[in-house]
Amino acid sequence: MGGLQRGPKLARRATRRYTVSMKTIGLLGGMSWESTAQYYSYINTMVKERLGGLHSAEIVLVSIDFAPVEALQAAGDWQAAGRLLAGKAAQAQAARAEFLVLATNTMHKVAPAIEAAITIPLLHIADATANRILAKQSSPCIGLLGTRFTMEQEFYAGRLRDMHGIEVLTPPPADREIVHRIIYQELVLGRVLENSRAEYVRITQDLAARGADGVILGCTEIGMLLRTDDLAVPLYDTTGIHAEAAVDEALR
Ligand code: GLU
Repeated sequence: MGGLQRGPKLARRATRRYTVSMKTIGLLGGMSWESTAQYYSYINTMVKERLGGLHSAEIVLVSIDFAPVEALQAAGDWQAAGRLLAGKAAQAQAARAEFLVLATNTMHKVAPAIEAAITIPLLHIADATANRILAKQSSPCIGLLGTRFTMEQEFYAGRLRDMHGIEVLTPPPADREIVHRIIYQELVLGRVLENSRAEYVRITQDLAARGADGVILGCTEIGMLLRTDDLAVPLYDTTGIHAEAAVDEALR
């Protein structure tokens, strides 16, 4: 009897000893799962580096089917997309996530609908990216690569400009089409092709030649294709930056 009781007691003591104060991250992903896998890996790697030992992150992952999301984007039905993601965000909160990380730049277009559905904070990807840029450069002019939605609509560049004073430069229309096509026909499917890398390098160098002090990889899959050592101009990879902001918040 006594022996039976000692087990749980020791286990409780051990749990207390190794428990650190860490918030549970709500990771809303699947858009695409290729980049969500990178978030998961980055977040856990950083928590391990900071806390040592066998520590890893506390995460509630809600990973959704990307096909209907893409269909709603293509149809321009952002209201339905907002409703869909708001429901998924509420699911993460119900599972005790303490703040939310939406693991895609594009779907921050519906950030207001998501924020209206939850009471936990949303860690906005553009704010995390702006903070990183401003820590390195003051009054910067920054190139932006991403989906057509992210490059052409106000929800992203407008936020960088109005809330953070960052001027944004995008590629010309034909190059925006190339950047967008490579994301949807290759990167979200896990296809990383040398020709496409060459196109991204060319487009990034063109932005730098037009005066960009750095370039935001404003789509969470672009880091699979373009690395910092590919280019002379600083690259701001939103996946790594957002994941690090999540770890900062979790351990704050
Ligand atoms: N993950 C991409 C982004 O960061 C594109 C996929 C999506 O449309 O969500 O924008």
